[in-house]
Amino acid sequence: MPKKQFKAESKKLLDLMINSIYTHKEIFLREIISNASDAIDKLCYMSLTDENVGLSRANFKIEIALDPSQRKLTVSDNGVGMTRETLEQNLGTIAKSGSGEFKATLENAEDIDIIGQFGVGFYSAFMVSSNVTVLTRAYGSDTAYEWSSNGADGYTIKEAEKETVGTCVTMILKEDDDNEKYSDFCEKWRVTGLVKKYSDYIRYPIILDGETLNSMVPLWQRPKSEVTKEDLDKFYKDKFAASSDYAKVIRVDAEGTVEYKALLFVPQKAPMGYYTTEYKKGLELYSSGVMIMTDCEDLVPECFRFIRGVVDSPSLSLNISREMLQHDKQLRVIAANIEKKIKAALEEMLREDRVRYEEFFTQFGLQIKYGMVSDYGMRAQELKDLLVFHSSRGSYETLKEYVDTMPEAQEYIYYARAASVERAADLPQAEMARDKGYEILYLTDDVDEFVVSILGDFDGKKFKSINDKDTALESEDKKEEVEKQTQETQDVLTFAKETLGSAVTDVRLSHKLKSHPVCLSSDNDVTIEMEKYFATIPNQTEIKAQRVLEINGSHKAFRALCDAFDSDKERAATIVKILYGEACLIADLPIDSPSELANLISEIM
Ligand code: ADP
Repeated sequence: MPKKQFKAESKKLLDLMINSIYTHKEIFLREIISNASDAIDKLCYMSLTDENVGLSRANFKIEIALDPSQRKLTVSDNGVGMTRETLEQNLGTIAKSGSGEFKATLENAEDIDIIGQFGVGFYSAFMVSSNVTVLTRAYGSDTAYEWSSNGADGYTIKEAEKETVGTCVTMILKEDDDNEKYSDFCEKWRVTGLVKKYSDYIRYPIILDGETLNSMVPLWQRPKSEVTKEDLDKFYKDKFAASSDYAKVIRVDAEGTVEYKALLFVPQKAPMGYYTTEYKKGLELYSSGVMIMTDCEDLVPECFRFIRGVVDSPSLSLNISREMLQHDKQLRVIAANIEKKIKAALEEMLREDRVRYEEFFTQFGLQIKYGMVSDYGMRAQELKDLLVFHSSRGSYETLKEYVDTMPEAQEYIYYARAASVERAADLPQAEMARDKGYEILYLTDDVDEFVVSILGDFDGKKFKSINDKDTALESEDKKEEVEKQTQETQDVLTFAKETLGSAVTDVRLSHKLKSHPVCLSSDNDVTIEMEKYFATIPNQTEIKAQRVLEINGSHKAFRALCDAFDSDKERAATIVKILYGEACLIADLPIDSPSELANLISEIM
């Protein structure tokens, strides 16, 4: 029979995997058992609505058979099985997604558990086997198939005999070497130990010599006192293919009108591709031990889409389709309840484990902010206490902390919007606020200004950008002084405005500047920062701020402008253009013609 080759990339990966000095080779059994359990989940779910399955919850099982004389280990299940096509698809290609990443990780990995993360579980059998045979019959099919492979040099598929629906994976173990005693994997003590260690909470019996090896009680069904931190760690990493620890675990045991148990995790790190469409949100949904759905989206709101976990509820009616379940009233009650629990858990973390919370926020804060501005700000008020911002105090601050420590005279919550904390701190407008002892929040995400604008205020204190035309930071004396100076130099300001033409709506003397010569502000509701943001969105580039060039009347640059205005209009125009260019640079806006600006500067020098 002709041998089929694995897809080119798959072959390379398989080579790597077989030859890698992977210290956790024993996990292959967990992977094979977990595939068997998934296959049973599928058929078990079908049996709820399809009488022809002919099996009920209690009939499903995973059987292990050992034959040390032939170095043979077999894992059989009565799950959904595979057709010829699915065999080819599933076992002919390794690591359907992210194979490049997988390869890179594998090359650098020694001890981390990466197998499960990349959907290559089945192939881990080749770490311990010289030959793997998969005999399978799909539900609804009369024909069985046998897939067989010695590893990287390809595989064969042929028709075969199998009386019942399901899958049998037979592994012939490698010869022992210095690093590993492969023959132990067909010894009862070793296999029993591995099942207890890795597969204890598989919800179907795992049977060896007529004896059930696993306790079958999933972690979320066990009393809290019986679940160790280690159990949770292992469960989280195995189940959700997580590469780092979780930041917080949330356990819910709800009784009453709607009964359910939930075991939820707040991840510490965003998984690869989290902020892309690749990431699927949702919790695993079970009902009385039957798996209903792997990613039940309706159980978590968008703002908490990073949450991973399982929900198990006997209250759900099982005999309905997944589509109908989404509209189920019970499910909605559970979802609402879970949302509250997540929020409370995050608040608790913020209170009691600040360092960890801030780490969490650097990863998922953006998600929470998006959650606040979406759906017309429906959740903004609910989520506002979860926000932390960088501030001029050098630490992350909550809005409450900001307001609680405001000097009495301070009317507003001041913020500066910029691409980074350093840029925000450098803004000329920030100086005056700092001089008054007012804290400034540094808003460094695009969405931040929308967040504060949707909130409007916090505890009755309105938000105010330090770029605003009216920041109320200046003293009465300063105001009067600027007004007087404006009257005296009106000609110069009008000249400057005319020189800049349509680039600006106005040129004014500033109240806000102390040591810097210029800054830009906006005369309409679109701030300079919002304009920058809209400029990155197709079809929105027309949304623009009405730019105002603000000049520091006490700065020597302005005096130079006034002098030139009296003696040399051309020189005055050059100074105006340079000042405007400077203001654009400080605001991190593109310069229309950098070479022209450079020429003007050289000219003046
Ligand atoms: P993953 O389980 O992460 O998808 P695997 O490489 O372990 O990746 O398995 C690939 C696919 O092969 C599975 O998704 C499943 O569709 C199929 N498969 C593996 N083992 C079995 C089994 N015992 N019964 C039915 N299908 C299986």
